[in-house]
Parts: sequence; structure tokens; C-alpha cells
Amino acid sequence: MQSVDVLVKGRGAVGRSLALSLAAQGLSVGMTGNPEASRPDDVRTYALNAASVALLTDLKVWGSLRGDAISPVYDMIVSGDAAGGQPAGRLSFSAWQQGARELAVIVDAAELDAQLATALRFSPHVHDVADDTPAALTALCEGRESAARSALGVEFKPRPYGHRAVAARLVADRAHQGVARQWFQPGGEVLALLPFEKPLPGASYGLVWSCAEARALHLTALPAADFERELNEATAGAAGELKLGSERSSWPLALARAETVCGPGWVLLGDAAHIVHPLAGQGLNLGLGDVAALSRVLAGREVWRPLGDERLLRRYARERLAPTLAMGELTDALQRLFAHPSNAAQSLRNRGLDALNQLPPVKRWLTQRALGL
Ligand SMILES: Cc1cc2nc3c(=O)[nH]c(=O)nc-3n(C[C@H](O)[C@H](O)[C@H](O)COP(=O)(O)OP(=O)(O)OC[C@H]3O[C@@H](n4cnc5c(N)ncnc54)[C@H](O)[C@@H]3O)c2cc1C
Repeated sequence: MQSVDVLVKGRGAVGRSLALSLAAQGLSVGMTGNPEASRPDDVRTYALNAASVALLTDLKVWGSLRGDAISPVYDMIVSGDAAGGQPAGRLSFSAWQQGARELAVIVDAAELDAQLATALRFSPHVHDVADDTPAALTALCEGRESAARSALGVEFKPRPYGHRAVAARLVADRAHQGVARQWFQPGGEVLALLPFEKPLPGASYGLVWSCAEARALHLTALPAADFERELNEATAGAAGELKLGSERSSWPLALARAETVCGPGWVLLGDAAHIVHPLAGQGLNLGLGDVAALSRVLAGREVWRPLGDERLLRRYARERLAPTLAMGELTDALQRLFAHPSNAAQSLRNRGLDALNQLPPVKRWLTQRALGL
């Protein structure tokens, strides 16, 4: 059987990006699974940071995305909950104040998937191969349920939040003007509206509404008109009158990190290595950060060092430890703070949002972390 330099398992955004990146270095890459696998019904929109956009641009994928599949975020407004007679806190970010062109770019998950698959078809160094193809290095990008990770005996214990994220496309009766909005509501509910161009240019949003499991399933099953009523109550007209523009889907939420992300001849990337709450829109950004880091480490290896050398792969593990740990802890702390039902916690978070809003250097620091700078 013909061997390859790197065997990539998993054709999500992380696996496909890694295959393209390594092939661009001249390595021979084998990919397992169905080459046609795509998720055209994925209603999600991803908020991608500057570092992810730069990687996808280098891979010649960003430039081929359809114009209506990407939408820049210029401003972001985060609101606390006003229950219990206390005023809601408010924190706002603006690209202009941060000296950035945009705070993030919202991209159509299904279109990104499709363009990554197309780019792979034109990559001469990437081949569809059998699962047991010999390789110097196997990169596991199989997502949170990775079977190959389990077969290696790597511990990965998801801590479920007991919440699901409901995603859908929405249409507003008012232009979004590049403003993303997020509400932290009682019980740890987080509702985010991400400005988008489909189905209606200039007036659409990607919705991510994270809430307790039973409520999420209820919201997903509600007739459209009842769902829209609940949604418009929760957003109180801040983005105009909102209507559904797609089906609704939901995903279970959990926090997890693999106890180790590499060993002799294998490495973990993306959701196979770590999963975080989507409240900060950072899961795929972390996964693409893994891709960039592993590509750099492999490109910079000593000529005599094999690709699967564990000492080499530990450089990747060390580089990714701090960002993945920090993002897991930050999203978890925010989720817990906003889920806490006491009046004291509510007052603290609302005053915290207001106080942060008055601290431009801290806002700049937070923005730079979110931009991946
Ligand atoms: C509602 C929601 C909103 C989100 N919003 C954002 C956001 O705004 N910004 C952001 O950065 N992130 C966001 N995320 C996170 C993001 O979706 C994930 O981090 C990202 O999709 C992970 O990509 P992946 O390629 O690692 O895994 P996956 O997308 O899970 O892909 C894994 C692939 O491997 C395949 N596979 C599994 N087992 C095998 C096997 N044995 N052999 C071969 N193939 C296999 C699977 O079929 C799948 O195709 C969000 C997540 C959710 C749920």
C-alpha cells in the first residue's frame, strides 16, 4: 500500500484546512472518509477572527467564498439581564475605536465547508486513501466524538452544560449595519445575533441561542410564529422585528480538553482536542489556530527529524496549551457567572459590564485576544 507523509482523519473545517496547509508545504497528504461529505443544511454562521481569515486567505479559500457568504462585524453590543429590578449592564466594542478594520467576519458554515472541499479537489498533493494507509504522522480532526482518539486511550471527559445552542438564520425589518448583539439572560441563557447577508442582504442575522436543554428543544419544536414571538420578546426590538429565515437546529454544549494532544506519530486538532461554549464564537478559531501552529512546527523541523517524532509534536502541544486553556476557562467563567441566579451575582455582572465599558485599555486587550492577535 502506498504510504503518505500525513494521514488526516476528519473532513470538517479543521481537517480540510490542515490538509491544504500541509500540501502547500509539499507534503503528501492522505484523507480518509467520504470526499463528498458536506453539510449543505448547516444553518450556522461562524464568527471568525483575523488570524483565521489570514489562514484561509493563505489557503486560497477565503477569496473564493461567495460575496453573500461573508459579512463584517463593525460593532458589538453585549447586554446583561435586567431582571430583579436592577438595570441591565452594557458593554460595547467598536472596530473603529480599536483601530481595526472589523471586529470579526461572519461566514456561512455550509459555504466554507463547500469551498474547502473544492480547494482540496485542486490540490495535487492530497489523495483520498483508506483508513489504514501507512503514514509518518496521523492527524486526528474527527471532532468531539473522535473514535480514533478513544482508540488511543486519550482521556477526553466532556463536562456538559445541560444547555443546547439553537441556531437559525433570521431576517429583520431593519438593516443590521454590521452590528452584532449578545444578551446574557437569567439561567445562563445567551442569545447572539450575528449580522449576515443571507437570506436578505443587509438585514439578516445568524442566531445562536444557548439555553437549558428542555427549553432549547421546546424552542426548536415551536411553530415558527410562536418561536418568533419568543425571540422578539427576548431581543425587545433592539434589532427590529425578527422573522425566521431557515430551519432551526440545535447542538449540545460542553467543555472538554484532551489530557494530551500528541504522542508518537499522532496529533489531535480542533474539536477532537478541545470543545468550548460557543458564547465567544471561538471553537473553530481555536481549531484553525491548531492548524496554523502544527503547520509552522512541521515546516520548521530539523531535516533529520521525522514528522511523527513526539519531541517535535510536543512543540505544537506547548504552543497550543495556553490559548486553548485560556479560552476554555474564560468561556466557562462567563457562562457560570451569568448562570448564577443570586441577586448579588446579577448585580456584580451588570456592574462588571458597565465598569468594563469605561476601561478602553481592557476593552482593547479583550478585542485583541478575540481577533487572535
Ligand atoms: C451553534 C454553534 C455555533 C458555533 N459558532 C462558532 C463561531 O461563531 N466561531 C467559531 O470559531 N466556532 C464556532 N463554533 C464551533 C465550531 O463549530 C467547531 O469548533 C468546529 O466546527 C470544529 O471543527 P472540526 O473540524 O474540529 O470538527 P467537526 O466540524 O466536528 O468535523 C469533524 C469531521 O470528522 C468526521 N469524522 C468523525 N469521525 C470520523 C472518522 N472516524 N473517520 C473520518 N472522519 C470522521 C465528521 O463526520 C466530521 O466531518 C460553533 C459551534 C456551535 C455548535
